[in-house]
Amino acid sequence: MSWLARQKFLGDDSEKVFKGLKIGIIGLGGAGSHIAQQLAHIGIGNFVLVDPQTIEDTNLNRLVGGTWKDVEDGTPKVDIAERVIRGVQPDAKVTKHRKRWQEVADDLKSCDVTIGGLDQVRDKDELEGFCRRFMIPYIDIGMDVHKGDKGYFIGGQVILSLPGTPCLRCYNVVTQAKIEEEARNYGDAGPKPQVVWPNGILASTAVGLTLQLVSPWHPNPVESEYLQYDGNAGTMARSAIWKAMQGRACPHHSLQETGDPSFDLRKMRDASSAGSISSRAVRFRFWSWFMALFG
Ligand SMILES: [Zn+2]
Repeated sequence: MSWLARQKFLGDDSEKVFKGLKIGIIGLGGAGSHIAQQLAHIGIGNFVLVDPQTIEDTNLNRLVGGTWKDVEDGTPKVDIAERVIRGVQPDAKVTKHRKRWQEVADDLKSCDVTIGGLDQVRDKDELEGFCRRFMIPYIDIGMDVHKGDKGYFIGGQVILSLPGTPCLRCYNVVTQAKIEEEARNYGDAGPKPQVVWPNGILASTAVGLTLQLVSPWHPNPVESEYLQYDGNAGTMARSAIWKAMQGRACPHHSLQETGDPSFDLRKMRDASSAGSISSRAVRFRFWSWFMALFG
C-alpha cells in the first residue's frame, strides 16, 4: 500500500501528479515553514525555497521545525525547511536560495504554483506581477495584529491570483498609499507582531487552495479567492470585495504582457491530449481557462 493511501480521494493518479509538481515558497518564516511541512506530507516532489535570512531567537515562537540549536548555529531558514521536507521525503528535489526572490526569478519561472508569505506590500505586488507574467498561480498570505480600545485583534488574508482574475490591487490589498507609507516608514516600523497559530491557519488555507488547483477533489474549484481570517472570532470567510470583483477584468496587469515567449501552448495541448502526466498539471486542470485567455 502507498504511504499516501489515506489521501486517494485527491485523485487516482495524485501520487504521481504531486511527485511531479514544483512549488515555490517565498519566505520560510511563520507561514512558509508550515507550508513546506504540509506540502512534504502531501507528497509534493519538487520545491524552490527562497529566503535570505538565518533563524534568530525571535523567530522560534512561530517557525515550525526551528530549534534552539539552529539559533545558536545561525541556520538559514531555507535549510530548516529542507530538513523538515527531507524528514518526510528523503528524495524530494529541493532547490534553495538564500537570496531575495527577485535575484532568483529564473528558478521560479518553472514552478507550477508559487506561495508568498512576504511582509512588504511592494514585494507582494512585484511577486504577483512576476507570476502573472509567467502564468504561475500565485497565493498570497498576510497576517496582522491591530490594537483596539479593549485589546488586540488578529486578522489575515489568503488570496489566490491567476492571470485575468482580480489581483491584489483589485482587492485593495496592494494600494499606492500603502506602498508609499511603507517607503516612508522603511527601517523604523519595528518588527510586526507574529504568532504561530494564525500563521498555521493561514498556511493551511493556502495549502487547501493549492490542492483544489492541482487535484480533482473539489467539486467547484475557484480561479480567484480572497479569504479573510478573523482570529478573534475564529472564522475564515470570503471577503465581500471578492463578490464585487467577480466578472470584472483586472485593469492592473495587462494580458498582453502575460506569457513566457518560450512557452508553447500547442505542445502543452498535445501533451495533455496524450494523457501524459506533466509538472504542468495545474495548467492542464485549468486548460479551458488558459484557452479562453490565449486560445
Ligand atoms: Zn487588478
